[in-house]
Amino acid sequence: MSIGTGASARFEAIREVNSRTPRKFDPPRDDHGKRLRISDFFGINTFDIRKMREKLPKEVFTKLLSTIETGKKLDPEIANTVAHAIKEWALARGVTHFCHWFQPQTGSTAEKHDAFLSLEENGRPVEKFSGSQLIQSEPDASSFPSGGMRTTFEARGYTAWDPSSPVFIMEHTNGKTLCIPSVFLSYHGHSLDEKTALMRSGEILSHKVCELVHLIGDKEIKRVVPTLGIEQEYFLIDRALFSLRPDLVMSGRSLLGGQPPKGQQLEDHYFGSIPGRVQSFMSEMEFELYKLGVPVKTRHNEVAPSQFELAPIFEEANIATDHNQLHMEILRKVATRHNFTVLLHEKPYAGINGSGKHNNWSLMVTCSGPSVDGENLLDPGKTPHENLRFLLILCAFLKGVYKHSGLLRAGVASSGNDHRLGANEAPPAIISVFVGDMLSRILNSIESGTAEQISDAEFIKLGVSRLPEIMRDNTDRNRTSPLAFTGNKFEFRAVGSSASSAFPITLLNAAVTDGISDVMEALKPKLTTAKTINAAILEVIRDVVKETKPIRFEGNNYSEQWVSDAEKRGLLNLKKTPEALAQLLTPAAIAMLTKHGVFSEAEVVSRFHVRIERYIKNMLIEVDTLRSMIETQILPACYSYYGMLASGIGAAKAANMPTPQQESATKLAALIGAVQSKRNSLSVMLSRLESFSNEEEKAKYLSREISLIMTEIRVASDELESLVADDYWPLPKYREMLFIT
Ligand code: ADP
Ligand code: MG
Repeated sequence: MSIGTGASARFEAIREVNSRTPRKFDPPRDDHGKRLRISDFFGINTFDIRKMREKLPKEVFTKLLSTIETGKKLDPEIANTVAHAIKEWALARGVTHFCHWFQPQTGSTAEKHDAFLSLEENGRPVEKFSGSQLIQSEPDASSFPSGGMRTTFEARGYTAWDPSSPVFIMEHTNGKTLCIPSVFLSYHGHSLDEKTALMRSGEILSHKVCELVHLIGDKEIKRVVPTLGIEQEYFLIDRALFSLRPDLVMSGRSLLGGQPPKGQQLEDHYFGSIPGRVQSFMSEMEFELYKLGVPVKTRHNEVAPSQFELAPIFEEANIATDHNQLHMEILRKVATRHNFTVLLHEKPYAGINGSGKHNNWSLMVTCSGPSVDGENLLDPGKTPHENLRFLLILCAFLKGVYKHSGLLRAGVASSGNDHRLGANEAPPAIISVFVGDMLSRILNSIESGTAEQISDAEFIKLGVSRLPEIMRDNTDRNRTSPLAFTGNKFEFRAVGSSASSAFPITLLNAAVTDGISDVMEALKPKLTTAKTINAAILEVIRDVVKETKPIRFEGNNYSEQWVSDAEKRGLLNLKKTPEALAQLLTPAAIAMLTKHGVFSEAEVVSRFHVRIERYIKNMLIEVDTLRSMIETQILPACYSYYGMLASGIGAAKAANMPTPQQESATKLAALIGAVQSKRNSLSVMLSRLESFSNEEEKAKYLSREISLIMTEIRVASDELESLVADDYWPLPKYREMLFIT
């Protein structure tokens, strides 16, 4: 491919794409050439429980397992033995380096590699890996965002192994690294990462749920884990075309680009057959993930052209979140091998569906470590009691979401996600919960009943005892709700495709913990006054159903009507990131998060700062990229084309011929003028940014005035795109980028 920019580079790139022989991924085979099964290589690059059992002395394994189950710190006594076993396993697989793999608040992961190599006194080289190296490491952490929590003079933070998430081997083109999933803390014990709070929130939620179920007699439940199945949406684009779009390269989304004649309106892409090149990419990507023990299960086309989705089998939230980070990393890596670039941005293309990360969440009773083989508390059970327990937990969920909807909105706020949540697209910025028609009817009938009616016969009448069958038949699926109950789990759809699930799920866990806590406080006195436990539970359910009614919405969340109805209900509609993030700092949010011990106040405040800073940076990158594209690509292309028209007009006039180009030239001149004047306004507005002393004000200004003018520039530029001769246009167009051949 020729290097260069401008229209000729664009054509070269497209020609190159069209002439390419697709990379074929050949699935792995055994020595006799027979294809291996997935189960033959699943997890070969992870030191999972099975390998621990196999490679560790029995008593060490038992201790390690109990560490994993209880979430306690690893006994330093056994650390050396564990480290030795891991090292031997890794060396046998050709690994040379190790790293603590952690998740600073950048949304992605960080790692610093150290070789196993060490020199003995006599200079003899040996591979070494000690228990303390496994347990703890000190990256130079001063450049990771801390939201002001770590001043530079005590810039040190440390990472500590999280034994519940298996150690894994990451393969690179020229080597292999042992990655140790870790948390990242400051020396004062503040969490500097995404993972610590997620793990904390899970433990706290588990305790509260156990307290609640013990109160109603289910004393055998000892531990509960939040589970997650994270559906990941993404776009693929040809790498050659991607590299010609400075906006995609710099900001992940196209800041300019007119609509193609055909977008997603035909809906022919959804679940359609997957193009061969993409199929090959997917097989290789899945192969890489399987080796890492990531259980990817489904793949399909999404609604928009060149948009796809991948979904795993659900796991404990902490592991699922780590695995989703691996999804994103492997997606990027393998895409490159197939001459694609993966776009994880929430809104790569205007006018076409964006990408989300659907977080399927439930509560599982667990007995043995991180495996989630237990009962799902969001599954209605077999007996009236189990069904009531289900309804009680459902109500606690409704209560938590109702009270903390602003916080949940804050958890998914980012500059990218504003283009989904704030725009007319799935799902809206208004947080509401969909429970489905059948469950709604049951909740409504409980609401309108009276306390005295409660007998076993009443359960039947209310539909409580028939819940499982009713739910099984309940196939209605509302795809517009940000939080939908889907039979035995909630699907939180507002999370952005490029985000880590950790923070949103931490906040969801916290909100539900608070809901459970409230429900429990309401239940305690009723247990002594009501006739039976079931009667007491039903009374509480009734109160919560009444109170949380405004948060329940079964209709079309995209409609204009919903926006005004939601306002009447008093629900928040926080369209943009700055006002959404402000919810983190409300007294109610801080009180709740600190009361349950999910975050300290300093940690909450720092999260606000990290996120608002990231928002400002992202917005400024977009603005700068837009300005440079307009200045150095769009306007010059328009001038050239205008010059061509003008000389044609001059020549025609000289020859006394008609000048039909005049009409186009006049239109062009007007649009060029519009772009120039808006570009000038943008510069003036940007200089105002300096005058804001406060980050929040700066962010708001960017989200309103600056965003608006960026859109205006885009509209004018997109009109120019439709006017300027195709071979003058310097950027790959939507129709070229969106349709993979
Ligand atoms: P959809 O119709 O939304 O694609 P699926 O049934 O395919 O729904 O499931 C989507 C995701 O939900 C999968 O990742 C699946 O593993 C996950 N999931 C299923 N049950 C649970 C559960 N109890 N807890 C968490 N995630 C779950
Ligand atoms: Mg889904």
